[in-house]
Parts: sequence; structure tokens; C-alpha cells
Amino acid sequence: MQQITILGATGSIGQSTLAVIDLHPERYRVFALTAHQRIEELARLCLRYQPRYAVVQQAADISKLAALLHYQGTEILAGTDALAYVASHAECDTVMAAIVGAAGLLPTLAAVHAGKRVLLANKEALVMAGALFMRAVQEAKATLLPIDSEHNAIFQCLPAHYGQGLTQVGVERILLTASGGPFRQFTMAQLAAVTPEQACKHPNWVMGRKISVDSATLMNKGLEFIEACWLFNARPEQVQIVIHPQSIIHSLVQYVDGSTLAQLGNPDMRTPIANALAFPERIQAGVSALDLCQHHLQFYPPDEQRFPCLALARQAMQQGGTTPAILNAANEVAVAAFLNEQLPFIAIPQLIETVLTQLPMSPADNLETILAADEQARQLAQRALSRY
Ligand code: NAD
Ligand code: MG
Repeated sequence: MQQITILGATGSIGQSTLAVIDLHPERYRVFALTAHQRIEELARLCLRYQPRYAVVQQAADISKLAALLHYQGTEILAGTDALAYVASHAECDTVMAAIVGAAGLLPTLAAVHAGKRVLLANKEALVMAGALFMRAVQEAKATLLPIDSEHNAIFQCLPAHYGQGLTQVGVERILLTASGGPFRQFTMAQLAAVTPEQACKHPNWVMGRKISVDSATLMNKGLEFIEACWLFNARPEQVQIVIHPQSIIHSLVQYVDGSTLAQLGNPDMRTPIANALAFPERIQAGVSALDLCQHHLQFYPPDEQRFPCLALARQAMQQGGTTPAILNAANEVAVAAFLNEQLPFIAIPQLIETVLTQLPMSPADNLETILAADEQARQLAQRALSRY
């Protein structure tokens, strides 16, 4: 029986994780559930799964949650230290890291340091602290399994010993697929007028609001590019982005002998979640099999003129140090402002670029430097917002 902590249980990935766990009560038991704002939803999940711990963000929410639970046995805690506590607890085996944004970094790192099996959905954590994060995985002998559908696909297409280095195992490049988002065919003039409502309606996936906006600007693919470089120890030039609007092929790996391996499936996050939960075994995910005759698959190169976030992310990865953390923080502020109707859609990459050009990069060799860069970038981005 695997004991599982779900960081971000009330979110889109959290709910899909619980849906897979529901199919396998003999294999998985919910150890801890955490949430930020939707306390009623967290209460509903606690009543259903009766976890050992429930963690909220604000201390004031402890009594709110307690009042909604009609049983003893779930201990309620609050704050980031409590998130780290349930992620590193001796009785927990597996941690689903599904908090959105930089808020997920410390609890995810706590799970890594404790040598857990870490299912990583929270790509922002790896973007911010890639070198430090991957070093901690090695030192603590944690098992890191990618949940992002593209990275899970790549993981499935690589040989087991890929950790030796991509070149050593005969890989020429990774092809990272992107749907292109809801505005793939929009002109600049159309992009200038898009609303949060439109941006949150992804053609193929139902996701949280922040990642939906990231998918619309293609910053999601930029973050995933950085994520792929760290996860698979790839050089930036070994990762190529391909637009594939149907999201049926979730990514590919090209080998030196001319072979290209792909992972295909209906776009449903329960597939990568089940893959990572059971790895190296295979279990039911509740996802129907792909009917190839129903699909016409297309591929295009990305357009970096209309979607400048791609180039910003690639440059950030090439610069290294704290630059990816700065990119991520500026993006989080820009996306929140767009969702609040304080910033036009096309100003998202402009705001990020402003912050990147104003903040010098420093080596990202410790957590304090990374968190300081994150904080400085947020402050600069907030100040730059007043110009819009
Ligand atoms: P979501 O917004 O639906 O859920 C986010 C979860 O994090 C919620 O449970 C929320 O309570 C919690 N949370 C938010 N802010 C927090 C904070 N400050 N402190 C503690 N908890 C906080 O997001 P999602 O779509 O489930 O995405 C989660 C992560 O998974 C993101 O990093 C995203 O990029 C990644 N991801 C999501 C998908 C998807 O299909 N949704 C696919 C690939 C990767
Ligand atoms: Mg993805």
C-alpha cells in the first residue's frame, strides 16, 4: 500500500490524481491533502478520503476546515512548514507535487530531500531551481517522475538508463509538442483584444487558470522547454518545439539511427498520472483507448513573432543562474494581472522582458539567492505594471 501526499489536492491535477487513486484502493491510500483557498472542497475530500493530515495555507482556515469535518482522525495544519512536513513525513511514500507556481518549490524540495517518490506536476519549481533541485534528487536518492504530459511521454520514449546522458544512449533530440493554445491562428490585432475568459478555454485540455494562460501565450511551452533540459539533462539545442494542434502525440524522441519514438493517447492527465503512480508497472487510468481513425495529425513550426515567450524562455535557460527564476516570477505576476484585467494579453511578454532586462543574473547555487531573485522580480514586475 503506497501512502500518498497530494500537494494541491483541490486543483485540476489533484482531482485527476484522486480519480486514478479511486480506481485502485488496494494500491494507494491518501496520507495528506493540501489546499490554498477552496476550503469547502478540501473538506469534501477529507470526508471522502479521511487522510492523516489536511494542510491549509492560512492559520485562520484551520477552524473553518475543522468545523466542516464531522469526524476525528484528520489533523489540520497550516502554512508552508506544514506543507513541507507532510511532504517529507516518514510514513508517506509518494508525493504528488501539484501546487501551481513558485509556492510549490519549498514543499516539493522537502519531498526530494526526504528521498520520496516525487511525481512532479509543479514545473515552476524545476524552472526556478533546476540545478539545485536535480542535485538534491541525486543526493537524497529521490525518484523523480514527470507528470507534465510531454515530459511523461519523453520519459516513456527514453531507455531506462537515459541518466547516463542523452548522447550516450543514442538520442539526437527531443521533440516537445505544443498544441499552440486557443490563439494559435490569431493575428497580432486579434491577440491584442483577447480576454481572460477566452484564454482559459483551452481547445484540448481542462486545466487551472494560470497554466491555461501560459498555454495561450506559449510560456507554458517555454517553461516546459526549461523543464525538459533539467529532467533529461539535455542541452537547449537538443530540445525542439513542434506545434501539434490535436495534442494526440504528447512528445517524441529522435535517435541517431533515424528512429523517432512517440507516445500517443487521448489528451487526459490521468494517463501520465497513472504511469507515474504505478511505474514501472501499468495500471488502469480510466482513459479510453485512442481511436487513430478519428484523428488527423498535423505539425507546424512555432511562430516566435506572435508568441515571444518561447524565445524569452530559451534565452533564460541559456543565460542560466537566477534568470529562469526571474522569468518565472515575472510571468506569474503578469498572468495574475492579465486574469485581473489589469494587463493586456500581448503585454505579458513585454512585462517579462522588462523585468529580465532590469535584473542582473546571479549564480543560482543556493535557495536564498533563488528566493531573493524571485522576490525582486515580483517587485519589479509590480512596479512595471503601473505603466499599463
Ligand atoms: P490549479 O490552479 O487547478 O490547482 C492548484 C492547486 O495548488 C490547488 O489545489 C490550490 O489550492 C493550490 N495552491 C495554489 N496556490 C497555492 C499556494 N500559494 N500555496 C499552497 N497551495 C496553493 O492548477 P493545476 O492546473 O492543477 O496545475 C498544478 C500544477 O501542475 C502547475 O504547476 C501546472 O503547471 C502543472 N500542470 C498542470 C496540468 C493540467 O492539466 N492542469 C498539466 C501539466 C502540468
Ligand atoms: Mg504540458
